Amino acid sequence: MIDRRTLLRGAGTTALVVGFGTSGAWVTQAAAAGPFDELPRLDGTVHLDIPTRDRYAQDLGRHVTQRPDAVLTPGSTRDVQEMVRFCARRRIPVSMRGQGHSTFGTGLTPGLLIDSRGLSTIHRIGRDSAEVGPGVWWRELLDAALPHGLTPPLLVTFAGLSIGGTLSMGGVPANNREGIQADRVKELEVVTGEGEVVRCSRRRRSDLFDTALAGLGQVGIITKAVVDLVPAKPKSRTYILFYNDNATFFRDFRAVTDRGEMDGAYALFPLVPDGSRVVYALNMVKWFDPAEPPDDAALLRGLTPTQQTITDGSYRDWACRYDSLVEGWQRDHDWDNLIKPWSDVILPEEAVEQYVGEVIPTLNVDQVGVTGTVFLFRTHRSRLTRPMFRIPEPDGSPWVYLFDVLTSSGRPGPDPAFTERMLARNRDLFERARAVGGTRYPMGSTPFSPEDWRRQYGSYWSTLRRAKRKYDPEGILTPGPGIFARD
Ligand SMILES: Cc1cc2nc3c(=O)[nH]c(=O)nc-3n(C[C@H](O)[C@H](O)[C@H](O)COP(=O)(O)OP(=O)(O)OC[C@H]3O[C@@H](n4cnc5c(N)ncnc54)[C@H](O)[C@@H]3O)c2cc1C
Repeated sequence: MIDRRTLLRGAGTTALVVGFGTSGAWVTQAAAAGPFDELPRLDGTVHLDIPTRDRYAQDLGRHVTQRPDAVLTPGSTRDVQEMVRFCARRRIPVSMRGQGHSTFGTGLTPGLLIDSRGLSTIHRIGRDSAEVGPGVWWRELLDAALPHGLTPPLLVTFAGLSIGGTLSMGGVPANNREGIQADRVKELEVVTGEGEVVRCSRRRRSDLFDTALAGLGQVGIITKAVVDLVPAKPKSRTYILFYNDNATFFRDFRAVTDRGEMDGAYALFPLVPDGSRVVYALNMVKWFDPAEPPDDAALLRGLTPTQQTITDGSYRDWACRYDSLVEGWQRDHDWDNLIKPWSDVILPEEAVEQYVGEVIPTLNVDQVGVTGTVFLFRTHRSRLTRPMFRIPEPDGSPWVYLFDVLTSSGRPGPDPAFTERMLARNRDLFERARAVGGTRYPMGSTPFSPEDWRRQYGSYWSTLRRAKRKYDPEGILTPGPGIFARD
């Protein structure tokens, strides 16, 4: 009789996973000969077959490969708890995976990989919040909330990402004055590295709450999140303003975000048709009720683009504006399999204009790729409350900037020479950013040593290390980023 807890689907076979052998390998009933420990009873499934494990051996970057020994599709928080306990006793590394859309092996593990899609229930939609499993996509929450006239207040450009994944990364939105997604969380349920299930918030077990959000899975696995919801306007008006020169673009970007009259403003730098360079495109949005359309002349006063477009759509059209683009890339360019060595740095106000002004002229189709994108976000410091989201030290300005060069290769990999060249470029971009007070946003692919991580966390390093020792004493959780060296 096959128990649903430990069903193993092999290539054409089905086998039971019964435990973890003394040799350090997962054991199936057929192969079990020596002593082994029984796996706990589970509501979900552990997979040991090579095809499944291979499906989880890479992330969207497609240039780091690490096949997990086993994959858990959890059926409950208890499954995560039981398996983390099981792994902690044996010092087996554990990572949770959302959509696997970070790009440098951040969520890969040689041990047990937990697919958060097993926990993708929207448990509750309330008046001002929703309780969700970590595997829920932002788009799914949006579609569940909109019929109630509600929306998550902050969405990143692509709504097909997991809530647990972007809350573990940070989640920088187009909105300029409302922090990041990790700032808009009321409460978390976390399974710690010892297998304790903890509800935490700003008031309760705040040391865990603080280190779990934007925490790259270092102190716990998020198994539920209570996230903010706010009233949604039905319509959106998108303004795209084009510029040829750095100084005029920055003047207008600052003017618009300083005024705070738009609901969001960020820059995208599309390639020109012959791929020889990128141009500046300031993207802005205003949400509205049809009875009260925005006053374009007032919103755009004083701005001096070379060209502009204005389009209306629904709020949902705007919220999911990159989803159809990504689908097109998947269909036409095999996007999932392109190599994506992304660079992401956070810059202070005093350095950003010169930094961007130096990098933009170096970007062309070879540096970015046909499906690559370059973004610049401007975010007000006052609403950035999460200590694990590392931003430049105060420089007298209320603003910081996230600058992403999201390079894709021209064809599916592997291509070691391309990867090596791009990782060296990313390291150079990072070092130039750090030299002017910048930090790294860890969604991309920048070679980083434990010493780099210590510098990244700066004055918060000792707090993080204390939390790591307390909540993950065996050091099993999320080894991918390499923050803590394992003995
Ligand atoms: C097309 C596209 C557009 C993007 N645009 C933006 C943007 O505008 N702004 C922005 O900030 N980011 C953006 N990102 C980056 C995105 O925020 C990160 O790649 C994020 O990690 C993706 O979520 P995911 O579900 O794929 O997480 P994953 O990559 O699966 O996970 C990220 C990390 O978190 C860990 N993790 C995942 N779930 C949990 C959990 N429940 N508990 C503990 N740890 C967990 C993983 O182990 C991994 O280390 C974009 C990505 C793509 C592909």
